[in-house]
Amino acid sequence: MEKKDFKDIFIKYLKDNGQRITNERILILNSALSMEDHFDADELYTKMRNDFIRVSRATVYNTLELMNNCDILSKHNFKGERARYEAKRGSKNHYHIICLSCNKIIEFENQSIDKSLLKVCKDKELKLLDYSIQVFASCESADDCKIGNEPCKK
Ligand SMILES: [Zn+2]
Ligand SMILES: [Zn+2]
Repeated sequence: MEKKDFKDIFIKYLKDNGQRITNERILILNSALSMEDHFDADELYTKMRNDFIRVSRATVYNTLELMNNCDILSKHNFKGERARYEAKRGSKNHYHIICLSCNKIIEFENQSIDKSLLKVCKDKELKLLDYSIQVFASCESADDCKIGNEPCKK
């Protein structure tokens, strides 16, 4: 999906839900969409301040929730960590493996998992709507397992 489409979806969502469309919210939308990988609200807030964009922390938090509600972002809670968000780019579902030592997040796609889940639902006469998979692991090599590594590698 294009950035512009996300903006249209977001504005429509705000209108439909009686929320105000403010410049601040649109700035947060743009900054969130420019974030790479998985970020939490404080990281976005810090980035916006570093970019000299004035927003309040509370507005960042609630705008991210609004973006999650209208499906522009996915929200993950990786093992009791603070909620992390990521922009929904493309239609492909992907899954996460999280190293419990360094919190590195690795993404993967797997069509046979997708197919199995579809089949499980179908067999139970359910229509699959959404799912997320989190796998917890630890890096095999101590060299790779450092806090401060890139948060997300393919
Ligand atoms: Zn991801
Ligand atoms: Zn690790």
